[in-house]
Amino acid sequence: TNVLISGGTGFIGKHLTRLLVEKGFSVSILSRSEKENTEDVSFYKWNVDKDYIDENAVLNADYIIHLAGEGIADKPWTTKRKKVIVQSREHSIELIYAVLKKNNKKPEAFISASGIGIYGAINGSEICTENTLPADDFLGTTCQKWEAAADTIESLGIRVVKIRTGLVLGKDDGFLKKMVPIFKLRLGSALGSGKQYMPWIHIDDLCGIYFEAINNPNMVGPYNAAINDNTTNAVFSKALAKIYGYSIWLPNVPAFLLKIVLGEMAQIVLTGQRVSSVKIEETGFKFQFTTLETALRNCVVE
Ligand code: NDP
Repeated sequence: TNVLISGGTGFIGKHLTRLLVEKGFSVSILSRSEKENTEDVSFYKWNVDKDYIDENAVLNADYIIHLAGEGIADKPWTTKRKKVIVQSREHSIELIYAVLKKNNKKPEAFISASGIGIYGAINGSEICTENTLPADDFLGTTCQKWEAAADTIESLGIRVVKIRTGLVLGKDDGFLKKMVPIFKLRLGSALGSGKQYMPWIHIDDLCGIYFEAINNPNMVGPYNAAINDNTTNAVFSKALAKIYGYSIWLPNVPAFLLKIVLGEMAQIVLTGQRVSSVKIEETGFKFQFTTLETALRNCVVE
């Protein structure tokens, strides 16, 4: 069975590739750059801006996992950058769609990343379920366009799953890679009010959810992928500081300063949303890391 992962060279893709190979799948990766095939992984090229895709990638796939997209927090959200963030997720799906349609090819499922940012910059304690209405701020509309593009694939008679992902915690990459050096120097503190919710998920659990989405034909539509344990930014910062053996002594980083430095993108760290994990757990999926402390310990100590 072949699983094609777009953007499979990134943080989530690398971990997912390892899991799928271990489970006996053959993995293909769609990447913008030329890469040598290995024993377990074949690489195919595409260029989303230039409407180019190596069709064989799609034609050989029994399942497609769509992770490709420009980093949301990598550069300031200028009008141009916002377009790039959306296009790299939406137009990339359009390229895959066109190949499927032209060749009347029907993989078993199309599983796309999405984000819990779809619920918007809520700062209350409402618990968002998959039925909560999406927001019309930048992240909300980005996720809506991303998911709407994925839904077009459903019109070809293919099962579509959308994984609304929380903050992913992993050993060697993602958000923790940026935070750990600061906390190691005992300089980490909470951001803004610190009260904003920060639903997180351990990378192994997220890969487990993608694996479940491949194997469980009853999984259809959106699923929140995050632990609902009331973690706020202050709770998260305290827990990370504790691992490095200190109590936070610095005041919170003020919101106005973050807004000056990050512009509109400050939304990512200053706001958050609580999300329900009931729907994914109802599939039978069981989270391995359910407490922040064990997840953080596993990522930064073990
Ligand atoms: P990464 O940035 O680590 O990887 C994304 C991959 O997408 C890159 O390796 C790159 O592959 C590809 N890519 C980047 N820009 C483009 C482009 N313009 N056109 C085509 N491909 C592109 O992200 P993650 O692995 O962390 O995340 C995967 C997906 O999950 C993303 O869409 C992300 O938004 C989403 N997500 C992640 C969260 C997290 O905490 N990590 C939280 C919520 C959602 P290459 O260079 O080989 O082309």
